[in-house]
Amino acid sequence: MTPGAYLKHRRTAAGLDLHDVAAALATEPRLAEHARASWIERIEADIVPMSFSTIVALRRAFRFDLDVLAQLAAIAMHSPVEPPRLCRICACSEADPCLGHRGACSWVDEDLCSACFTYEPADRLAIIQSAAAERDVGA
Ligand SMILES: [Zn+2]
Ligand SMILES: [Zn+2]
Repeated sequence: MTPGAYLKHRRTAAGLDLHDVAAALATEPRLAEHARASWIERIEADIVPMSFSTIVALRRAFRFDLDVLAQLAAIAMHSPVEPPRLCRICACSEADPCLGHRGACSWVDEDLCSACFTYEPADRLAIIQSAAAERDVGA
């Protein structure tokens, strides 16, 4: 995952669209809101580099892990850094888990967290099928 894709995943997981974030970044930079939205879109596509002040402003708009962002940025610069463990859907991580009504999420797969697991129809089907298979064996 690239640094921009990471921010996009975390923004989406927070339920925010580009315009929500653009509205939240009222002072940075001094652009019209629609221009700010497309500028954020280019950051998320790794076309525009992100400044430290942008990162700080984005961090105030939604939750993401600065350590993970730094790790991904280092990897993008070809540094020999271990890739962080991230959920492929919401990009949550150990230090930045999803907090639902049942508490923090956990890993159900190498790159899938329990909060996202419920929403994956293919995985859900697999659970139902394996449960049915177990029942057949038990009968
Ligand atoms: Zn997830
Ligand atoms: Zn999660």
